[in-house]
Amino acid sequence: MSSPARGLIIAAMPIYEYAATAKGCDHCTGHFDVLQKSKEEPLTKCPRCGAEVARVISAPSFAMGNAHTLKESNLEKHGFTQYRRAGNGVYEKTAGKGPKFISGD
Ligand SMILES: [Zn+2]
Repeated sequence: MSSPARGLIIAAMPIYEYAATAKGCDHCTGHFDVLQKSKEEPLTKCPRCGAEVARVISAPSFAMGNAHTLKESNLEKHGFTQYRRAGNGVYEKTAGKGPKFISGD
């Protein structure tokens, strides 16, 4: 296991997993992931074929690390908030929405 980038954490939109409840297309027959804000209505139909889909897991997972794959300027557009370590257990926001400072270990 590799550890996340040192001094950098990403608070992302929750990733929800969906799967077709009956027969679907290649996209939805297996599970597929959707980035959604938690306030958004859950998907009921496959965006590609319109087959009925259901959310597979209720507990959202969060993308952590791998921040280097996204340009900082794109972070906010993708709904990410980026923090950099600013001091002793304190992180300063560098992109996206959210509190300017958070503390954590
Ligand atoms: Zn489909």
